Amino acid sequence: MPETAKKRRTANPVYLGGLEGKLDGVAWTLLWLGLLLALVVLFINPIGFVASVGIVINAILIWVVLRALAEIIRLLKHQAGLPYGGRVTSPNERVDGNWECTACGGKLYDPSICDHCGREIVGTEEVGE
Ligand SMILES: [Zn+2]
Repeated sequence: MPETAKKRRTANPVYLGGLEGKLDGVAWTLLWLGLLLALVVLFINPIGFVASVGIVINAILIWVVLRALAEIIRLLKHQAGLPYGGRVTSPNERVDGNWECTACGGKLYDPSICDHCGREIVGTEEVGE
C-alpha cells in the first residue's frame, strides 16, 4: 500500500509572465486582430468572403501554434522544477498550482498523487491548521 499525504495550499501566488506568458499574449492579440481584420475586409468588400474566412482560419491556426509553444515551455519548466507562467492545460479538470504535498513540500500538479515523492494524496490541509 503506498504512503499517503495531504495537499496543503501554499501562500505563493501563481507565477505570471515568462516567455510562455508572452506567447499566450501574442496568440490572443493576433487572434483578435485576425478576427477584426476579417470583419474589416468583409465590410469593405462583401465579395471578399473567401478572403475573410482565410484570415480567420490563419488567425486560429497561429493562435493554436503559439499556445502550443507556450504549453511546451510550461511542461519543460515543470519537468525541470522551475516556476512557469500560466497553467498547464488539462482536458478534464483544472490544474491548481497552489497546492503542495505535506510530506515533501513539492508542488502538486496532479490532485491524486505527488509528482515528487510519489505519495497518494488523500485529503486537504489548509494553511494554519
Ligand atoms: Zn510529496
